[in-house]
Order: sequence, then structure tokens, then C-alpha cells
Amino acid sequence: MGFLSRKSKLEPEPAELPVEELDQASEDGAEIKISKGSNNATNDLRQVGSRAPTTEPPRPTATPPAEAPATQALQSEPPAESDASPEPEAPAPEEPEAPEEPARLRPEQLIAPSRQPAPEEEVEQAHGAKVISFANQKGGVAKTTTTLNLAVAFAESGHRVLCIDLDPQGNLTMSQGIDPDKVETSMYDVLVHDVPITEAIANREIDIAVASIDLAGAEIAMSTKIGRERSLDKALKEVRQDYDFVCIDTPPSLGLLTINALTASDKVIVPVQCEYLSMRGLVQLQNTLKMIQENLNPDVEIEGILPTMLDSRTVHAKEAVEILEENFGELVFKSRIRKTVKFAEAPVRGSSVLKYDPDGNAAGYYRDLAKEVLTNGSSS
Ligand code: ADP
Ligand code: MG
Repeated sequence: MGFLSRKSKLEPEPAELPVEELDQASEDGAEIKISKGSNNATNDLRQVGSRAPTTEPPRPTATPPAEAPATQALQSEPPAESDASPEPEAPAPEEPEAPEEPARLRPEQLIAPSRQPAPEEEVEQAHGAKVISFANQKGGVAKTTTTLNLAVAFAESGHRVLCIDLDPQGNLTMSQGIDPDKVETSMYDVLVHDVPITEAIANREIDIAVASIDLAGAEIAMSTKIGRERSLDKALKEVRQDYDFVCIDTPPSLGLLTINALTASDKVIVPVQCEYLSMRGLVQLQNTLKMIQENLNPDVEIEGILPTMLDSRTVHAKEAVEILEENFGELVFKSRIRKTVKFAEAPVRGSSVLKYDPDGNAAGYYRDLAKEVLTNGSSS
């Protein structure tokens, strides 16, 4: 029996099993029931999700994101001794009459005004585009297909959209007719050498910041960089005002590239192939998201889980969707992406399915998803 199994109506309620034990237990061959409303996987994922219908988890808004160790060290350092600052501005340290006046500059006073944190309204305004990552460490679940086609569906409905290809395989780049082997400036240069992201953007059906083959070396090249998890977030600041949506395609791993994507994101869409084995990886993804929320980006949350490549003729696929809904409830999108060969044909022509077959069913699936995301966004 697999790690996810249907809850039988006649069975007694299974004991709760901590998420961390899911992998271990399933590897041990133990049968694990995950049933609606009675499991930690559901509750934990809802905590990191935005579609939970009832109890809104408290948002750790006031908690500043963790800084890179070097920055922390800088901030906790005591202010420098004042022997190097003979300016008459500061009160003389030997004045005993003025105990209220601090004789030394406070650490924040040592920071140039341009680096002082902006007032909250300004931060809100500067936020701009809604950034969505498409993540699942399993390959072949339609991350790239969903990134492109949902992005084009957003654009069709009048939104300004930027796609970012963070997968060294460059499939998203190729699916807009661009050869990753021939691009001059790519996301590698943006992440590793802090080149402005505008230099990596090509204008196609949507704007796309392209990948190149050397992106495969980006994780190692970035590993010694201070603030390496925030490189993409920083790069995006320059263009956030120019777009309504930024859609980030991620590689099939939970390494530094995916961490950069999640750290820069407001939302995560998780495409899941409707098979038991594909759903198993959700627990791992959930743990990574929790780590990101606790250390790097407290605001990121799951927009939704998207059943993809659904072959509704098979009992297996139907059951897999039911299990997904039983376990993740409201987090599962109502939209369904069904299996059709159009999705394999379109990238060969360097286009989305919405352009390749605008009146076909395949285009309709992603237009429906776009509506659902837009509706959800406006109500939250
Ligand atoms: P990932 O980015 O998660 O690795 P892709 O988007 O590249 O997945 O999809 C994997 C393969 O499945 C591609 O060849 C793609 O054309 C195909 N595909 C994606 N969605 C569908 C679908 N709904 N029906 C049939 N094939 C699909
Ligand atoms: Mg892909």
C-alpha cells in the first residue's frame, strides 16, 4: 500500500502521525492513512497556504526576515569607539550632566539614510507585481507548462507579465522559441554577477528572463555570496513596478535556485501529476516552505495545488484527485488540467497552447485557472 490511501468510512479514525515520520514510516513499509481533517500534513500545508477556508494562521508580520550571518554580525557589533569622530555634533562623552543624551551614535545612525528601512506604506507601494513560483521537486509534473500557459492567460486578460526561467534545462526559454545555448545574458549573470534583470529579458508572448546552460553552475557560484538566498528578490526590485505578475519556473530540486524563487515569492503554485507517487513529494516541499517562512520570507504561502495531466478515463487518476482533495481540501484548485497532446506540440512551435490552439480545450484549462487565481487574489 502506498503512503497515501483513501479513508474508509468504516475504519476508525487513524492515529495522528507527525509529518516528519511520513517518509520514514512509508519507507518502513508501514501503511499510513492520511485522512481529511485528521492529519498533520493537511494542517501544516494549510498553515503555509492561503486558501484555508476557516482559521487564518497568524501572520508573523512583525518578524524581520533572518539576515545572512555576516549581516547579523555587523548589526550586533557595538558601535565603534568615538576616538575617530572628533566632530563637535556629538555631545562630549565626559559631560556627566546629560545622562539622557546618548554619547555614542546608535548602530542605526551609522547607516546611511538611503539604507534605512523605508516606512511601511512605501514598502507596500514598492512591492508592485504579485510574484508566483511554480514549484515541485519532481520533474515532469507540468511546472514549465503551467508557468508559461498561466502567464499567457494572465496576459490575455490584460495583465503585464514577466516569466523567469530558473531551470538550467531552459525548457521555458525554449518554449518561447529561444535557444538557451545562444543567449548572451541570462539569469546566471543576474544571480551570480548582479547584472540588472532587464538585460536578461526577451520580449515574446510575454516578457521572459531567460535561462542559459551555465545556470547549472549558478548554485555553486552563488554559494559563497553573502545574501545568496535573496539574489533574485533583490534583482526583482528593479522591475516589480513594471509588471502585475511575475511567474517563476523552478528546477526539479529544492536547491538554492528554488530557494531563491520561494524567497522572492508571494505565492507558490504546486503542479501535481495525478498519481500517488507524485503526491508523496508534497511533504518535502512543505518542509522547505516552512524553512523559508521561518528564516527568509514569512509572507510566502501556497496559492494552490494544481492537478495536472489528468486522464479522467482512468480510475487511478480519479482516485488520486480525490485523495488530494481529502488531504488538502481547499488548497486544491477547482481547475483541472487534463491530458492532451497539444501541450507537447505547442513548445515545439515555440509557443503557448493559448497561441498554438487558441480555441482548443487545452487553452481553456489555463484560462479557467487564470480566472480562479485572479478571483482568489481579489478576495484575499
Ligand atoms: P516540468 O517542468 O514539471 O518538468 P513540463 O511542463 O516540462 O514539466 O511537462 C513535462 C512534459 O509533459 C512535457 O513534455 C509537456 O509537454 C507534457 N505535458 C505537460 N502538461 C501536459 C498535459 N496536460 N497533457 C499532456 N502532456 C503534458
Ligand atoms: Mg520544467
